[in-house]
Amino acid sequence: MKGKGVTAVFLSLLVIVLTLSACSFNTDTPASPHGQEKIRVYTTIYPLYDFALKIAGGRAEVVNVTPAGVEAHDFEPSPRTVADIYEADVFIYLGGPMDPWAEKIAKQLAEKGVVAVAAAEGLLGDEDHENEGDRDRDRDHDHDRGPDPHVWLDPVISKTLAERIAQALIAADGENADHYRQNFEVLKARLDDLDKKFREAFSGVKKRDFVVNHDAFGYLARRYNLNQIAIRGLSPQQEPSPRKLAELARICREKDIKYIFFETAAGSKLAETLAREVGAGTLVLNPIESMTEDEMKAGEDYFSAMEKNLENLKKALAE
Ligand SMILES: [Zn+2]
Repeated sequence: MKGKGVTAVFLSLLVIVLTLSACSFNTDTPASPHGQEKIRVYTTIYPLYDFALKIAGGRAEVVNVTPAGVEAHDFEPSPRTVADIYEADVFIYLGGPMDPWAEKIAKQLAEKGVVAVAAAEGLLGDEDHENEGDRDRDRDHDHDRGPDPHVWLDPVISKTLAERIAQALIAADGENADHYRQNFEVLKARLDDLDKKFREAFSGVKKRDFVVNHDAFGYLARRYNLNQIAIRGLSPQQEPSPRKLAELARICREKDIKYIFFETAAGSKLAETLAREVGAGTLVLNPIESMTEDEMKAGEDYFSAMEKNLENLKKALAE
């Protein structure tokens, strides 16, 4: 009788110990979607991060792989960061030439149970991307061809990116599905509002040509029937040839260009050179590929950057 009592006490103690260790295991694993733990979401570039953050609304921990202030085009994460992504619940990448390393690990991630989503799948334009400033494109610029990745600069396409992010969060964390859906609807309404502002601003303008630092605004230009002329190619690292700069100067004079756009991240030197050459001013047009830490601290996001883009484009295209 006495022995049985001891066994019962031992068994119940064992149950308590196992329960406790199970609990502490959960807290040691922030990636776990169970209970009150937040799911962990990794994104490759800033616009995906910002949309994921807004849809998560505090119920998920969102980490952007490209550090603040770092040029997004040629960024590749460290092996340590890649290992962290394998421990995540959700991985959102664009797909295509912006984050080619992501495509390579996506299948393995899915096998490990990570919800891996290419947000821009099927949305990137044709392979023969070209713009007016590139008519005399040198042969050594051929590597620049390929699908244009900059879809997030079109608010209408951004609605699809946001919807896919919402679906990914719901797939990983169904308990919070309503929360994610509601936040997505708010985000979608804001993107609709942004689209309306751009449409209204440019439906009646006569001037439609704008000159930018790198070929990032093709989707935006097509959406609002504008014409982008790019100094550099699809990546901001490519330097234009003197021949191309001379051709750009000719186009700027011919089209009566009043402002040359530059990106804060890439510097204004080239834009200033061209502006001086043709007697134009310079303004910022942000491709929103990454944010600096100062911009983040100042509360800048996709929408504040797009509103500034809108104001500066209006200024440049005014008569
Ligand atoms: Zn770019």
